[in-house]
Amino acid sequence: MHLARFPRVKLCHAPTPLEFMPNLTRHLGGPQLWIKRDDCTGVATGGNKNRKLEFLMGEALAMGATHIVTQGAVQSNHVRQTAAVAAKLGLKCTALLEHRVQTNDSDYNDGGNVLMDRLMGIAIEYRPGGTDMQAAIEEVGERLKAQGEVPYVIPGGGSNATGALGYANVALELLAQANEMGLRIDRLVHATGSAGTQAGLVAGLEALNSGIRVLGIGVRNPKDRQEAAVHKLAEATAAKLGLSGGIRREAVEANCDYVGAGYGIPTEGMAEAVAMLARQEGIFLDPVYSGKGMAGLIDLIRKGAFSRDENVVFLHTGGQVGLFAYADFFTKSLA
Ligand SMILES: *Cc1c(COP(=O)(O)O)cnc(C)c1O
Repeated sequence: MHLARFPRVKLCHAPTPLEFMPNLTRHLGGPQLWIKRDDCTGVATGGNKNRKLEFLMGEALAMGATHIVTQGAVQSNHVRQTAAVAAKLGLKCTALLEHRVQTNDSDYNDGGNVLMDRLMGIAIEYRPGGTDMQAAIEEVGERLKAQGEVPYVIPGGGSNATGALGYANVALELLAQANEMGLRIDRLVHATGSAGTQAGLVAGLEALNSGIRVLGIGVRNPKDRQEAAVHKLAEATAAKLGLSGGIRREAVEANCDYVGAGYGIPTEGMAEAVAMLARQEGIFLDPVYSGKGMAGLIDLIRKGAFSRDENVVFLHTGGQVGLFAYADFFTKSLA
């Protein structure tokens, strides 16, 4: 795994901390719960997309891009982080926001990530829910090209083999930390959406022969679709890294029992998880991804899926800005 062979812009505050959560561990009666703080990657309040953007923007600069185009749901953390990195690098940015969550709530439509997107002054275009968003950003890319720009089109979530290199790099970072601390990691758990985070982690951890099992908690798709997407992208990432032999299908595991009614729609388990982490550890999760990921981990712990002395690391992927888009939901759920 020789990541220096790929163009990269160093953006993240890294290594991010790997910390023990003593209160949560006690509260739930084990396993030993650790947290990898990728909510603290720096740029624009942090999050996992900054990891991918190091390699994506490296490629964009290498090809002389002038304009970054990407897409996401209205409350996309990926769009917020991409817009910030584009600003930092002096590139123009157009984001397509999909009305994937149907709501008239002004906190959702104008607050949280959207507020930050607007403060950064990027061009925002809206699309109805269900739009083929990949086709839509490619179309915008063509339009900009015709206007003389050099567009660099980033898929939703920054999830292609280039972006996933960011999480192959986190596999290296995490193992180095664990080895330094003398920490035997048994399990790594995180929220999985557009698949790049899990694909990069799995490719990296397999390449390093880590023996760490990764579990993605789905926030959108059913299990078969999610695992297929992660596996396909993990194979593409491994190929890009020059790893022979591909990725074992068994290395890709997703649990999609905690999505609830759909992407971005709150669940009771998510509300409990967000409040629990805030109260036990003073750590804030987000309503769309890490809150549902932690809800899954808490439920699996209660069902006895882990032994007391196992070391389980939860990867915090960020997204807390989204809490302010769901103020009404949390206010009611705490009442
Ligand atoms: C995008 C995102 C994820 C999911 O990562 P993918 O690489 O898209 O699977 C998880 N948590 C947060 C906060 C995110 O913004």
